[in-house]
Amino acid sequence: MPADHLPRRLLARLRELMARGAAPLADVAALVAREMVAEVASVYVCRPGDILELAATFGLNPGAVGRTRLRVGEGIVGLCAAAAEVMNLPDAQNHPGFAYRPETGEEPYTSMLAVPVRRAGRTLGVLSVQNRAPRRYADDEVEELETVAMLLAELLAGSGAEAGSPDGIGGAVPRLLSGLSLSPGLVLGSVVMAGGFRLRGRLLADDPDAELARLEAASQRMQRQLDELFDGRIPDDAIEATASRDVLEAYRLVAADAGWLRRAAEVIQSGLSAEAAVQRVAGELHDRMRRITDPYLRERLADVEDLAGRLLAELAGSEGPPLLPGAILVARRLGPAELLDWHSRGIAGVVIEEASPAGHAAILARALGLPAIGGLRGALAAAASGEEAILDADQGTLVLRPDTEMREIYGRAIATRAALAAGQAGQRTRACVTADGTRVRLMLNLGLPLELEQLTHTGADGVGLFRTEIAMLARGVIPDVAEQATFYARVLDAAGDRPVVFRTLDLGGDKLMPGTEAPEEANPAMGWRSLRVGLDRPAVLRRQLRALLLGAGGRPLSVMFPMVATVAEFRAARALLEAEARRMRPAPDRLCVGTMLEVPALLWQLGPLLEEADFISIGSNDLMQFLFAADRGSPALAGRYDLISPPVFDLLEQVRAAAAAARGGQGVPVSLCGEAAGRPLEAMVLAGLGVTTLSMPAFGLPTVKALLSGVDLPALREVLATLRRTADGAASLREPILAWARERGLDA
Ligand code: PEP
Ligand code: MG
Repeated sequence: MPADHLPRRLLARLRELMARGAAPLADVAALVAREMVAEVASVYVCRPGDILELAATFGLNPGAVGRTRLRVGEGIVGLCAAAAEVMNLPDAQNHPGFAYRPETGEEPYTSMLAVPVRRAGRTLGVLSVQNRAPRRYADDEVEELETVAMLLAELLAGSGAEAGSPDGIGGAVPRLLSGLSLSPGLVLGSVVMAGGFRLRGRLLADDPDAELARLEAASQRMQRQLDELFDGRIPDDAIEATASRDVLEAYRLVAADAGWLRRAAEVIQSGLSAEAAVQRVAGELHDRMRRITDPYLRERLADVEDLAGRLLAELAGSEGPPLLPGAILVARRLGPAELLDWHSRGIAGVVIEEASPAGHAAILARALGLPAIGGLRGALAAAASGEEAILDADQGTLVLRPDTEMREIYGRAIATRAALAAGQAGQRTRACVTADGTRVRLMLNLGLPLELEQLTHTGADGVGLFRTEIAMLARGVIPDVAEQATFYARVLDAAGDRPVVFRTLDLGGDKLMPGTEAPEEANPAMGWRSLRVGLDRPAVLRRQLRALLLGAGGRPLSVMFPMVATVAEFRAARALLEAEARRMRPAPDRLCVGTMLEVPALLWQLGPLLEEADFISIGSNDLMQFLFAADRGSPALAGRYDLISPPVFDLLEQVRAAAAAARGGQGVPVSLCGEAAGRPLEAMVLAGLGVTTLSMPAFGLPTVKALLSGVDLPALREVLATLRRTADGAASLREPILAWARERGLDA
């Protein structure tokens, strides 16, 4: 670059060009070549089918325009698009990815700089420059070309080229996308797109001071707005909850962090408007985020992206997205403030392309009772604003442009559910009793303070599983003893007379604490996790046990240990708890110490185990995965092995019989606390097999209660016995049991 070259000159020229109306791509290419002292400048645009087409060039053979096409991933340009990364190559032709296209006439050009043209997380094309002499382009040249690429993205989006990007809008054909359920529920509504903020007004500006002042004012307005949003717009009992409050506090800190605003200010100095600078910084962060695996850092960067969107809306003086009651929001990522904002605008469900169940958006969605799915790629590209969609957040699917039949089916399911919910509201205070008079205890699986109110909403008999690690994962820290004790005391306060079973920390596997070092393991679910860590490094476990005893403050306390594989492990864990209990004043009124049954080896240790454990809770999520050697997180295996099957029936019968006979016939209580307990047919079968304490997610409780109240357990037991005798190797007994229930008018 010549010494007298000013980075802002290119942008100034570009502004002149754009001021004359829509800037033809060829003029942009010519300008870039001239200003960057390059012999070639070319614009490639994404076309449907993962194709990059040469749309304009200065320096290559003009006849190649519209003819030269590369697949995404093919050639330097294709690699740049596929990885969404800058390619800065002194000797492009000897790069292993180089693809020779004779019609371009590019043989003489040795060096090449290619930058992706990206907008809202999608690659719309590639902008490249080439030179004869071998050279590595300087950092400020790369930055300059990236700035032009950002402006180009707006031009392409404005010209409608965006719809032609990979996996573009697919017309009126229905389309089903599958992901993960983050928060259950069914919604039939129209799509509204988040993150589709289009830059309006100026992209370039010649008075950087004025732009800086606008940025500063908009940032202050945004801060005030956030204070209002967090302090007033969600119910007190929700904001009070520690985990969510911490998520929001962290967000507020990011909002006040000057780092990313400073970067925006730097970009303004190069000649961009405040809007364009914020967009540029958000794009950079998004690209960085794609390369970060630490979930906590990803969340923090997502917060910045979210904030950038808010700041853009502020700068544009816009009121933000329109009010669309009942709409299904489709977003790439969603920060906590944005989710709260959309929730208050009346959306009925949300689809987040990049979200995991442990992420902040998922935590808040569950707390708000907002159906949500995540982890499905391509939703933003496949959906269009205003079109109809069905969000089945129970199954983790999104149906775009459903046909009449699908709409009717889901419409009926939604209406039935609403009627059921209305009917069930009156049943809340009624205990769950089957048609033959058997009392079934329905408990909740909880983990977040926000969820405590579900005890009242569902009329549950207690908390059968309090996953203590969940709130800590949400906060990203393991709090000290005093703070933990306050939290556990609140859980007991909320439960009142109802029992609560606290499970000690079950970290590891897919539940990783940010910042903690986890060993590299090929099978983390079967690795050094959960109680294994607790026993090998007991300091954290002992602190937790002390906090539980403190929190109980003399009240009865039930504690259970996860992932127990041997009686010796249970014994060691119980000994730690009892040692803490001996020192505690006041001591708990009653201390119940139980084990989860998740590891099949315990089935062959039931005799001694039942002498020492005060209760057993079957963790069917993990037990099923270890029993069938089927990863519980693998979508490919979902539904392949059935709890309603002969081997599981035998297993449950064995546990029930051993527990009933234990301690000289006095018996040891057995419950089941996996997700299966919340599915009506499974719950019915479990009750039929004698497991009459079931702990489940809150959304399952009303339907389980409704079904069980109509079931005659002795009649069911007979059917189950016959089916077991005649199963003859059947992999599942679901169909005949379902048929039996339906014949009796039971809605299973
Ligand atoms: C289980 O494994 O069934 C269980 C309840 O524990 P988690 O789902 O937390 O692993
Ligand atoms: Mg488990």
